[in-house]
Amino acid sequence: MPDFKFIKVPAGERIVLNAQGKLQTPDKPIVAFIEGDGTGPDIWRASQAVFDAAVKFCYGGRKEIAWMEIYAGEKAQNVCNTYLPDETLEAIEYYNVAIKGPLTTPVGGGFRSLNVSLRQKLDLFACVRPVRYFDGVPSPVREPEHVDMMIFRENTEDVYAGMEVESGSERATKLIAYLEKEFGWSIRPDSGLGIKPISVQGSKRLIRAALNYAVEHKRKSVTLVHKGNIMKYTEGAFRKWGYDLVKEEFADVAVGWDDCDGKPGDKILVKDTIADIFLQQILTRPTDFDVVATMNLNGDYMSDALAAQVGGIGIAPGANINYETGVAVFEATHGTAPKYANLDKVNPSSVILSGVMMFEHMGWVEVAEAITNAMVKTIGQKKVTYDFARLMTGATELKCSEFGQALISNFGAK
Ligand code: NAP
Repeated sequence: MPDFKFIKVPAGERIVLNAQGKLQTPDKPIVAFIEGDGTGPDIWRASQAVFDAAVKFCYGGRKEIAWMEIYAGEKAQNVCNTYLPDETLEAIEYYNVAIKGPLTTPVGGGFRSLNVSLRQKLDLFACVRPVRYFDGVPSPVREPEHVDMMIFRENTEDVYAGMEVESGSERATKLIAYLEKEFGWSIRPDSGLGIKPISVQGSKRLIRAALNYAVEHKRKSVTLVHKGNIMKYTEGAFRKWGYDLVKEEFADVAVGWDDCDGKPGDKILVKDTIADIFLQQILTRPTDFDVVATMNLNGDYMSDALAAQVGGIGIAPGANINYETGVAVFEATHGTAPKYANLDKVNPSSVILSGVMMFEHMGWVEVAEAITNAMVKTIGQKKVTYDFARLMTGATELKCSEFGQALISNFGAK
């Protein structure tokens, strides 16, 4: 067990990955949490109450979470004198499962973003975002109920890998000269440059995770979204490696479009689409898409566009997972919304639904179901926070904590 200076380890047991690659969750698992900055503490209080009540509702005291606070962001700066202490990373790696509120990106703190740092340092290669509609949630589209997708976005490569040089810098001048000399590429001398690495390993492990999810959850199709018509050796290669993987590892359960002429029988259909067409079709025919696998930048645009279709970032959950080590961080997809900090006002649903994903990941599916059903029921009763209330007629506006309590009172309600 790592030695911690600031983290207090509660009585409980570790969640571990067994030899078959499955998580083993004890009855009193230690789960790490980062409260988050800005609205984070309000949201975390409301969410934690929902999680504990749901576990109690489902298991009547037989099981419970041993919560362990770990530090990142402003609280870490106050408690540990750094925004991202090493022991926070060690704790997540050792205890395997963590959930977090939003974090401020410190200006001049040496990080591009704490969230990106966490993903890269822990090699959390898949950003997983379910996008589904809850009846009654205000939406800008006519038939939001047709959206039901699981997005797998690659988290560690692409232009997000941080390989950039600034226009006019010595490094940029050197690189431009090298590219001219060795490749005959003529690049304007005042350019900034970014490198876009897309590897076989990075692509295949992400697409493998999407395919495994589709198999386990009996989904119908996996769509590879790319811009391979233009970027042939990065995005086009991602597409090719995806189809190769289907043949190499999933031939018994999945088939590529070209190998079945779009008629997969009882297998999962693996198809692909160009990113710009995808952004049109999620509006015009969202039922064509089920599980989706894509690279980092495309995935960023796509998941926010899809979140907007089903009610916005207040309700969009997310997870960053390394399926090979079992380490997973579940998180709000919105930011810290600092103007609402400590007003007990904002929507806690993003963290609560991230918790639903966490319970599914831990194998406590009853808890995940109880919370999801209570969410459906509560929104159906038009009991919502300000962000939904302002777009609905006849809604009762609740505070952040009151919304959590409303969910709790709806456990088990039909
Ligand atoms: P933001 O915090 O997401 O807030 C933008 C707007 O989104 C808010 O003004 C609010 O809209 C709405 N919103 C956000 N959270 C909400 C919630 N829980 N319930 C209801 N509405 C919510 O984005 P930002 O202002 O650009 O970023 C603030 C800080 O957060 C920055 O430091 C940024 O780096 C950080 N950030 C962190 C994460 C993360 O930790 N995952 C993600 C993104 C940004 P209205 O004003 O319309 O009510």
